[in-house]
Formats: sequence, structure tokens, C-alpha cells
Amino acid sequence: MDIHGKQIRLAVKDGRLVKIACDQRVDASVEVIDLGGRLVMPGFVDGHIHLDKSFVGDAWRPHVEAPTLRDRLAAEKALLAEARPMVERAHALIEQAAMFGTVAMRCHVDVDATAGLSHLHAVLEACSHWRDAIDIEIVAFPQAGVMSCPGTAAVLDAAMREGATVIGGIDPTVFDGDADGQLDVVFGIAGKRSAKIDIHLHEPGLQGIEQLQRIAKRTRALGMAGRVAVSHAYALGEVPLETVDRIAGVLADAGVAIMTNAPGDRPFPPILRLRAAGVHVFAGNDNIRDAWWPYGNGDMLQRANLIGYRSGFYTDDDLLVALDMATEAGAAVLGKSGYGLRPGNEATFLVIDAPNGAAAVAGAPGERDIVRRGQCGKGGAARPIAARPS
Ligand SMILES: [Zn+2]
Repeated sequence: MDIHGKQIRLAVKDGRLVKIACDQRVDASVEVIDLGGRLVMPGFVDGHIHLDKSFVGDAWRPHVEAPTLRDRLAAEKALLAEARPMVERAHALIEQAAMFGTVAMRCHVDVDATAGLSHLHAVLEACSHWRDAIDIEIVAFPQAGVMSCPGTAAVLDAAMREGATVIGGIDPTVFDGDADGQLDVVFGIAGKRSAKIDIHLHEPGLQGIEQLQRIAKRTRALGMAGRVAVSHAYALGEVPLETVDRIAGVLADAGVAIMTNAPGDRPFPPILRLRAAGVHVFAGNDNIRDAWWPYGNGDMLQRANLIGYRSGFYTDDDLLVALDMATEAGAAVLGKSGYGLRPGNEATFLVIDAPNGAAAVAGAPGERDIVRRGQCGKGGAARPIAARPS
């Protein structure tokens, strides 16, 4: 079945999709694999993950209370210092996500004057083992601020020379007290290195809206439509809907995308309202079992379920929006080529025990098969499955 519950037949040759059709006629010489009427859909795209922070692949580490953001950063540094090596933990989380059917990620990696490029090097090493299974885009993320952490601008620039392709930012006013100072650095590096931009924005209410306005203005001025994203943008969930509509028009015009993971106890952007205004909204897991919070397992279907749950999505159309955010919308932001169930693309797709995409989001079944380039298996290691007579 496709995501709308329509029965389809996929024709695969040499690892590529050659035809997607509804008819059931097939040449006698062709091997037929009956997927039992299960849902077939493209692999997941995790538009926001932190591979350097997670304790997946390590011991369970109870959450530590931290009254301020600076306390949280200090607690994280202490926990990471005693954790297993970063490259092993990053590898374990990529493997777990691959088992759930993720085929692409945007990974934010801490890059600042205190961590230098050590996190980047560890994550790049872990990613190198997964080149054939997952496309991983790296964001140089100044977790400790830019202007308030002297030396960080130079380290961010160095990260772009060493494998990062997206420049990050964080709460320009709250962290740095100098919104234009931070944005000058972020947009400056993006211009110089032809990089994309993805800024963490947790700033509240109208302060957050002003920041979105600044980011949109710079995006337009530099002709960067489609290459700039803002992650979280909690403010969009805190202001009156008239304000949302006004800034949504500005974001859509400028080509600034919004990422949300529908976080636990926070207001978050009104997804349908933003999409109706033409804003590109996509999804990611964000923190997974790390010093920031204990939740998550890397499954983007579970994330789509949480996004739908918290957004009050009940109709099939709305549930399919959550699925789109975890697949096609994220692929567009990452610029993943050859993505989706279309003739000519790689025959890489998921097979899930659900009658359609809406049911998959609502129930988030854990069991799934992953077909990579025409070969079926679980997770990253492709293995053939026996053909069943049709
Ligand atoms: Zn994040």
C-alpha cells in the first residue's frame, strides 16, 4: 500500500525503482515479492539530531537538575567526560536510527572555543562508517554562544573547512546579548563558505518573533531562500495567532524553514497555520537520552506520532502532515537528491505493518523492514529476503 492506502506494485531493477503502478499484471520472468499489503514509504529524515551528546550505547545516566542554562552546560560537560568515547556513542545512535529506517540526518555538533573541533572530528569518524546507508549533514553548532565565548567565530569557520556544511547559531540575544553581532558571524561565514544556516531559537514571545524577523531580513538580503532554517522557534507557539500569521508571511517570503520536535512541556509552532501560509516546516528528534533530557530513541515514526499527538492531529490529512515532516519536508531542507518513491530513484524504502501512512503515524508500529537499493534487511546491514510466491 502507498501512504494513501492504495495498493501499488513497485518494479525494481538493478537497485532502482523503474515503475510504480497499480496494475497487478507481471511478466512471468520477473521475481515477485509479496509484501503482504503492508505500507511502503520512503525512509525517514531526521532534520535535527545531536550525535555528540547522546548516551545511547552507554550506561543509563539519570537526569541531573540544573537551574540555569549555564548550569546545564556544566552538567553536560561533566557527564560527557565520564561517558564512553564520543565516536562509539555517535555510532550506536546512528545504528539505532538506521534500524528504525532513517536514511538522512541533519546533525548539530558542538563547536566552540571550549570544545574546539573535538566533537566534530569524533562525529565525522562515526559518520564515515555509515556513508552507504545514511546521508548525514553536519551543522557547526555554537552551544556555548558566539560573542560570549571568545574565539568561537574562528572555530566555527574552521569547522566549515573540515566537513560541516551548515553553520549554526543559538539564541542571539539571550546568549550573546548582541543579536546582530552573532548574526553577522553566522551569515558572514555562510556567505564566505556557501554554507546553509540552522539556528536554535528558544527565545520567548515577542523577543523570539523579533529574532525571526532579523533572520528573515538577512536571508532575503543575501538571497538565501531555502538555505536557512530556524530550529524550535518556541515563540511561534507563545504569541497570538495574528502575530503568527504576520511573521509566517515574512518567513514564507524569505524562504526560512522551521524545525520542530514538539518538545515535552513547551509551547511550539502551530504547524498547520505555518504551512497554510507557505512556511516549510520539518521535523527532527533533537536530544535523545542525553544530559538535556532522558527521552527518545531515534525513531522518526515515533517523533511524527508525538508531533501529531501534541498538535491535535486527528484526520488522515493532518496525520499525513506529521509524516511529511519526517520524510519529504526534511529531505527538501537537506537537499537530499534521488529521495522518495519515484521512478529512477534508488529502490530504498520502508515496509511497515500499517494500512496507510496516517495509521502508521497514529500507531507508530515498531516492526519494519528496510529495503536498501532493492535489498531487504533490518537497519544498516542489507540482507536479501526470500521471495514469497505472489
Ligand atoms: Zn538541538
